[in-house]
Amino acid sequence: MSLYYISVGSNMGDRFRYLVNAVFDLKKRGIQMQGLSSIYETEPWGKTDQTPFLNAVLAVEWMGEAEELLDILQATEIRFGRVRHEKWGPRTLDLDLIYSDDKSCCTDRLTLPHPYFWERLFVLVPLEELSPDFFWEGQSIHNRITFLEGGQTITKWSHQW
Ligand code: ATP
Ligand code: CA
Ligand code: CA
Repeated sequence: MSLYYISVGSNMGDRFRYLVNAVFDLKKRGIQMQGLSSIYETEPWGKTDQTPFLNAVLAVEWMGEAEELLDILQATEIRFGRVRHEKWGPRTLDLDLIYSDDKSCCTDRLTLPHPYFWERLFVLVPLEELSPDFFWEGQSIHNRITFLEGGQTITKWSHQW
């Protein structure tokens, strides 16, 4: 078994429902949930002219290959109406593989760790809840969050799982 962190996000329709349904669907497809962060509301990153996101991070156990896990994430995205029109555009559901404790990968379908995870407060703040001792390239997650704070807006959402 390997431990993976998955970032989940939505900024279309009933955002909360998409997050909750995604967790149910992933469990149904055989993914073992080890932890759920709080839910955060965040300003869009990268393409800023769109409505705010709800974001969270999930810790999961998975026995198969990382690409098989990506297949499941993409099947769940499609089930909940994900359509790709433009890069970083609005979406009902986005599920990204962020990091694994013992796997890295670079293929044309999957880069692991996710290439932008260390830049994104909407990933790092919920990830810190699940893994407060997380370190990356010699820096603690806590210091990284402090460094990024101010540039990106993220607040704990009123409603939780
Ligand atoms: P970003 O990856 O910067 O967060 P995005 O989530 O909007 O952007 P998508 O359109 O959802 O990008 O995905 C584009 C492609 O990225 C997918 O088809 C997938 O094969 C690939 N990909 C590469 N690495 C990963 C990863 N770690 N997690 C999820 N998808 C990945
Ligand atoms: Ca993404
Ligand atoms: Ca994605």
